[in-house]
Parts: sequence; structure tokens; C-alpha cells
Amino acid sequence: MYVGRFAPSPTGPLHFGSLVAALGSWLDARAAHGRWLVRIEDLDAAREQPGAARQILSVLEACGLHWDGEVVFQSRRRELYGAALARLSALRATYPCGCTRKEMADSAPAINGSRVYPGTCRGGLADGRMARAVRVRTVAEPVAFEDRLFGRLAQSVEREVGDFVLWRADALFAYQLAVVVDDAAQGVTDVVRGADLIDSTARQIHLQRLLGLPQPRYLHLPVAASAAGEKLSKQTGARSIDAAQARPAIARALAFLGHPPPAQLVDAAARELLSWGMLNWEIAKIPRERSIAYPAA
Ligand code: GLU
Repeated sequence: MYVGRFAPSPTGPLHFGSLVAALGSWLDARAAHGRWLVRIEDLDAAREQPGAARQILSVLEACGLHWDGEVVFQSRRRELYGAALARLSALRATYPCGCTRKEMADSAPAINGSRVYPGTCRGGLADGRMARAVRVRTVAEPVAFEDRLFGRLAQSVEREVGDFVLWRADALFAYQLAVVVDDAAQGVTDVVRGADLIDSTARQIHLQRLLGLPQPRYLHLPVAASAAGEKLSKQTGARSIDAAQARPAIARALAFLGHPPPAQLVDAAARELLSWGMLNWEIAKIPRERSIAYPAA
């Protein structure tokens, strides 16, 4: 049975970019007669905007993007992440790291915009060093996977990212660990999300393999970007979706995903647009691009 999910971080209200991810994962799940879950990724309280989770859920509802079961909040699931981290540590797959951000500033730039971790603490903490974070050991051999839109992709996590953080210096479980634990715990079979996360996928598969968890299928969708090529976000001034504007927002998001609604649906309600989208959903129609400028959003 297909199980999909939408996993927003409540760092701001739902905007056009996040609506595209929500709609794409909803359509893919419903077209497969599957379940669709919503998970609020609220581990980083400092980045959370009060009220954002509630706003996101109410806009999803106003759009007719109804979810199955209870909404899951990562902030209430920390024991699960702790147990996974303990398992990885028992496997000797992790090590404490005492490096500061400043010390890594000279390392090679990594695919995710940070720095490739040069492995300084891999062989043990140097004398007098305090453990700040916990990293997972990676391997040079590329992790390959088949993306349903982009085809076969491969990444050497060791070379392109380096041993990455699972427990952060600010005492939080890292996104990469939490997402892998939750996707498996919730029985997610299909991850459909923005292509800004495509370069995280190899890291997540690496963790799934270490933890003996099943690997879901992946479909990455183009992300809406500003004319300057930045992903739309609160920081780039993306406008939030107003619950009263659900219908035009759904129509624009369908068109963005290569499924423009036909002319006879100009007056159709959001619900009818969604039914049409579900019946006409085809991966081959989605533009095969990681990001598309969307100045109107
Ligand atoms: N919470 C992540 C975000 O909002 C998405 C996680 C995922 O879909 O894997 O960017």
C-alpha cells in the first residue's frame, strides 16, 4: 500500500513553493489510491514561527488537501531519534566531533553549501577537545538511487558531503536522522518533495542502510525559485497562501507541475481541480528541472 507524506518545517506560513510540494505528494498518493500523511518537522524551536504549523494545516484544509490519520510532530518523538542514534553508536558508525564551524571554514565546499567534513575527529577527539556534535561515518563508494523524475543519481557522500552531523552542537537531532527514522516508522513508501532536497537523499539512504530500514521510492519536484534563482521562502519574501485564495493557488500549482487545468475548469472549485489533477497525474508531464523561476509568487 502506497504511503506518502508532506513534511513541512513550521518556519513560516505555507507559500507557493511549499504548496507545490504538498500538492505533488498529495496527487501522487491519491492517484495511487494511497495514504497521505502530514508531519510537522519542528525540531528546531529557534527557527519555528509561532502559529505557522496551525496556519499550514488550515491552508492545506482550505485547499482540500486532506490528510490521513493524526498529524505527527517531530518535537514529540525525540526518544525515537535517540534510540536510532544509540543503535548507530553501538554499531560504531558514529563518533563525537569537537570541531567548530570556524575550524572547518577552510575545507572544500560541499554539495549542500556547507563544507565537506575533512574527518578531523574520525580517529578520536584530540587531547583537550570536548565533544560538540556526533557524526556518522560515510563511505567513498557512491550511493545510487533512481529518482522517478530525474532518473538514476549517485553521490559519494564521503567525497561530496563528508561524515555528517546527526546530533548537533546546539543539542538537536539533525534533520537527516529524524527524517529517516520517521519515514520508516510511519511506513512511508514514497517520498515526494522539492528538488532542493535531492542532494540529501544519498545521506538518507546511507542512514537507512546502516539502520536496516527499507528504502522508499523518491520523486523530487521542481522548486519554485525567485528570478534570481533562489528557492522561494519566507527569507526571499514569498507571499503566504491565503486560505480564501485556495482555488487560484491550486490552479497555479497544478500548472507549475506541468498539469495546467483545462479551460472548462476555469470556474471549478479547488476540490474539482484536485480530482482532475488526480485523474490526469503523470510524472512524464512534470518539467524535469530542479528549479523554475516563478516571479509571480
Ligand atoms: N522539512 C523539510 C522542509 O520543509 C522537508 C523534509 C522532507 O520532505 O524530507 O524543507
